[in-house]
Amino acid sequence: MKDKFYITTAIDYLNAEPHIGHAYQKIVADVLARWNKVLGKEVFFLTGSDEYGQKVAKTAQEKGVTPKQLVDKLSKKFKQEWKSLDVDFDRFIRTTDIDHKKKVKEFVRLMEKKSDIYKGEYSGKYCLGCEAYITEKDLVKGRCKFHPNKELKELKEKGYFFKLSKYQNKLLELYEENPNYILPKFRRKEIINRVKEGLKDLNITRSKFDWGIKFPIDEKYVLYVWYEALLNYITGIDWPNEKFKKFWPANVQLLGIDNGWFHCVIWPAMLMSVGIKPANTILINGFLTFNGQKISKSLGNAISPTDLVKKYGSDSIRYFVCRNFVFGQDGDFSERALVQRHNDELANKLGNLVSRVSGLIEKNSEEKCENKLLKKLNEKKIEKLFENYEFDKVLNEIFSFIDVCNEYVQNKKPWETSRKPEVSSSSFLEKERKNKKVLYELKESILKIAELLWPFIPESSEKIKKQFSAKKIKKGEILFKKIDI
Ligand SMILES: [Zn+2]
Repeated sequence: MKDKFYITTAIDYLNAEPHIGHAYQKIVADVLARWNKVLGKEVFFLTGSDEYGQKVAKTAQEKGVTPKQLVDKLSKKFKQEWKSLDVDFDRFIRTTDIDHKKKVKEFVRLMEKKSDIYKGEYSGKYCLGCEAYITEKDLVKGRCKFHPNKELKELKEKGYFFKLSKYQNKLLELYEENPNYILPKFRRKEIINRVKEGLKDLNITRSKFDWGIKFPIDEKYVLYVWYEALLNYITGIDWPNEKFKKFWPANVQLLGIDNGWFHCVIWPAMLMSVGIKPANTILINGFLTFNGQKISKSLGNAISPTDLVKKYGSDSIRYFVCRNFVFGQDGDFSERALVQRHNDELANKLGNLVSRVSGLIEKNSEEKCENKLLKKLNEKKIEKLFENYEFDKVLNEIFSFIDVCNEYVQNKKPWETSRKPEVSSSSFLEKERKNKKVLYELKESILKIAELLWPFIPESSEKIKKQFSAKKIKKGEILFKKIDI
């Protein structure tokens, strides 16, 4: 049986338009999914949209549409955005999907059977931006750190609670025994410290609005969006049936730090409650700014990924975000830096190699031999870097090898025998044969480069692969046209 790889992303909350910040995470997930396909694993890649909750209901009301109309329109848009970036997910789950709703209710009943749900009352400061209560400790100048412009509401409500506090020690054990459960490592400590301070039970129901999944134990309530949305990671693979058995636990669950608490604490506790093993790794990506500014609607810089694709092409954007940022850290999506990398690295280095070598093979043909050139590529190192999510270094390693190949062409001068003399001397024939072998080494190396770059730049890699595995190799179109700054 093939090894499996299951990766999920955060499902985006549908009350605003998609932008490059959302896209970054989806690209990284796609790169990991494709890399695991290269490794020969059976991959399932889940993404989707988070569609219930008060914020969506409020946005819909402001726009004069029903919540369902709003989420239908926006989920379609998000999906198209990811397609335009060649994000090749296996399922786009919507929390309004019928199978999700049904399975969420089954999950609640199971949790109730474990005596982990009780009725109670809660009061505290509520951030509508997060759709969550903010504890006193997390207040920054009396506001939520993620939504400093929003006034917090003092709320008091009756509802049903999940006994989260019961899982404090079990969670600490989980972090202790699985040092890779929360990555990058610097994120681990802040979560662990907070769990050590103690956990409050979680109100998992709401009663002041009805845009949500009905709470099956008491239908006066709807489920808290953060509770039911988390379940998408198992409902999306048909829990508790065959597909779930095959793919769970997820290998990687990718998300932003604003979702860290829910995914690193509440989510594994929910799973523990019903006896499901938590995921292997919760992988936290950094935030992006755009041309040096925070991305926001009010600044008018929340440019849609599709518009960026029209400007630069999907591969260049994918390449740029993986090459330019240290994964896990925050970064700036600077269009100037993108153009620079597109021109210097994709066009000058990769594009040039492909164009030169294909042109030379068209004129000279190649001859099979032992590939000494390819031995200069350190594939083991690339695998290791992938395991550590060091995408920038993976690309650096591949591009160092592209440099080696370009130098090889320059030093071996295989064009010198392109033109045959009237009478071929034996030394000419010998040189010609050597050059054909050089071209063979280059061809095989380029095919390897295309395979390794496929997770990052699938469209161009597939073109290169097609070009260099043809019976008659020809100099094709320019792969990356230079962009004027
Ligand atoms: Zn907030």
